[in-house]
Amino acid sequence: MAYKITAEECIACGACADGCPVEAISAGDAYSIDASKCIDCGACADTCPVGAPKAE
Ligand code: SF4
Ligand code: SF4
Repeated sequence: MAYKITAEECIACGACADGCPVEAISAGDAYSIDASKCIDCGACADTCPVGAPKAE
């Protein structure tokens, strides 16, 4: 299990990357999550203002 950011929804604010405990989130036009690092904590989903990270 890992979270995945829906690129079409991401406004690239960076809040999720700042809060990820394992630095699994990379910056970009839309931010993205490295599934091999994600520990499924849900912090990014809780932090995101637009609900772009979703549990897979
Ligand atoms: Fe990082 Fe947690 Fe989001 Fe996974 S669920 S990307 S570990 S903040
Ligand atoms: Fe994108 Fe949400 Fe992360 Fe901001 S918190 S960079 S909108 S996924």
